[in-house]
Amino acid sequence: MQSEAGSSSGPDDLPVRIGVLAVQGGFQAHLEHLGSACGPGIEIRRPEELSSVAGLIIPGGESTTISKGIERDDLAGAIEEAAGSGMPVLGTCAGMILLGNSHLGLIDIETRRNAFGRQLASFEADIEIPALVGEDPIRAVFIRAPWVEQTGKGVEVLAEVEGHPVAVSSKNVTALSFHPELSGDDRIHSWFAAQCREWAASVDG
Ligand code: GLN
Repeated sequence: MQSEAGSSSGPDDLPVRIGVLAVQGGFQAHLEHLGSACGPGIEIRRPEELSSVAGLIIPGGESTTISKGIERDDLAGAIEEAAGSGMPVLGTCAGMILLGNSHLGLIDIETRRNAFGRQLASFEADIEIPALVGEDPIRAVFIRAPWVEQTGKGVEVLAEVEGHPVAVSSKNVTALSFHPELSGDDRIHSWFAAQCREWAASVDG
């Protein structure tokens, strides 16, 4: 099934159930990437659905709209609880904004919306994130992307563009300014799936 999974094979290819917040935005493309990286993803729309997954992706989209949806559907408490239990959480683009201090506060970062300005509203760049994907650069797609303006205690900067952090992590929470689901490269999803497998194995005892 994962014949083209590349260098990683063996236990790393075991399926793992990962949820994608499906309130608004680009959740579909994440689900497709998960399909090839680690088995079918699950759309998360209700708080109780989080108890059946080993990880959560908050996709890009419109951060204000997603934030309102999180409030409307009473999802914040369940997301905070899951993250607090050590479950891996990945936010991409608007998802980065939502993880930061202005919304869920799951990682101590201040973000700036649409930070790259009008000229650079959308662009692609090859960036290096050795901590996540090894030495080979990854093609990163930025669409009206945020950057990280300030990082607090415990936050590690994993990659920068123009001197601004675009990939950060703190324990089990990782936030990316760009859209890994819009490139043909599954390495970020495979890395995330590995984190989720590890966490699931640790809580299964
Ligand atoms: N500019 C959007 C926001 O601030 C994020 C864009 C994206 O997720 N592609 O909500």
